[in-house]
Amino acid sequence: MSKIMAVNAGSSSLKYQLLDMPSANVLCSGVIERIGLEDSIFNIEINGEKHKDILDIENHEKAVNLVLEALTKYNVVKSLDEIDGVGHRCVHGGEKFASSVVLDDEVSKTMEELSDLAPLHNPANLIGYHAFKKALANVGHVAVFDTAFHQTMEADTFVYPIPYEFYKEYGVRKYGFHGTSHLYVSERCIDLLGNPSSSKIITCHLGNGASLAAIKNGKSINTSMGLTPLAGVMMGTRSGDIDPAIITFLMDKTGKTAYEITDILNKESGMLGVSGISSDARDIEDGYNAGDERAKLTVEIYINRIVDTIGSYFVKLGGLDAIVFTAGLGENSISFREMICEKLTDALGVKLDKERNNVRGKETLISADDSKVKVYLIPTNEELVIAQDTMKLLNLK
Ligand code: ADP
Repeated sequence: MSKIMAVNAGSSSLKYQLLDMPSANVLCSGVIERIGLEDSIFNIEINGEKHKDILDIENHEKAVNLVLEALTKYNVVKSLDEIDGVGHRCVHGGEKFASSVVLDDEVSKTMEELSDLAPLHNPANLIGYHAFKKALANVGHVAVFDTAFHQTMEADTFVYPIPYEFYKEYGVRKYGFHGTSHLYVSERCIDLLGNPSSSKIITCHLGNGASLAAIKNGKSINTSMGLTPLAGVMMGTRSGDIDPAIITFLMDKTGKTAYEITDILNKESGMLGVSGISSDARDIEDGYNAGDERAKLTVEIYINRIVDTIGSYFVKLGGLDAIVFTAGLGENSISFREMICEKLTDALGVKLDKERNNVRGKETLISADDSKVKVYLIPTNEELVIAQDTMKLLNLK
């Protein structure tokens, strides 16, 4: 038995979960927010009991030390020596990493070199790594990349139709993200399908960020995000795919810079931009039910984008065994799942069972018995994949 810390370090946040492996029992979990700002928020949850502190946490090193202190303070572990490994969620592995790797100084250097591709995320992931490495000097570390699962895409899918030199010189290509989640839910789905010798699955990770993946025999063959997580379907605040000429058009019209427009596409678009209400699907649903026209349009665009992507992946996969819904919206929004599946009934014979679909956050079949395609709700568990890969790569039992 081993205890593994799964870490997700952002620029001002640190999410963590200590898992007992291989049972996958969560010993504690939490998130520290507003690191480096006033009134940082420290959260830890142990056996359903939540503790919260507001204090100034000036950097990630201090945040990591607070987490480790809390582990002994709340008797999660008797001594920090009980922690056997730390797995780090890392956003961009470029073409260098097609699977998880032991995270050492050389990998850290390569990740720094890849920071051009994820300027907000990779440096933050590395700050988390260095802080944990300092605090737990004798423990092994593993990097689990968001991009790795999609490295099985072929060139006709990942190369953009722009001058080829941009790919060769700058690495401009489709990478895709949420790979750990797509991997986890597709593996669970294959299991639920009874481990057939071949399988065609579309996974829909619908959270604040959203992406779909086409998965053939367990391998990703296409996904909706691109060079960055801005591409693909509509999201909470991100536009997803738009005509690229809109950027220069809006620069001319508004006098804003390309960076400012890109910022708007990342932070003020998607559900928030169209509805003018919120980036949260719950508020959009409320607006929709209250008859708000823009909320209605927001829902329609959101559903259309997903359905269009599923249609094209159906063709690419040459058929479809199952669709999986996961992440905040996918796991919790009964009505969005229903609206998406309704649009797939005529063409693909997808039929939800209303009773079965009346569920949140639980792994279950939600399609009707006579549906041509099975539809599952599968809560994602990226931390479990991180802990499993950490065990494997550090040869832990
Ligand atoms: P992140 O991408 O930040 O990890 P999550 O996977 O936690 O996001 O998803 C968060 C989103 O899930 C919210 O913004 C909201 O749109 C959606 N969501 C959460 N709960 C519900 C619910 N009960 N009904 C509809 N949407 C929900």
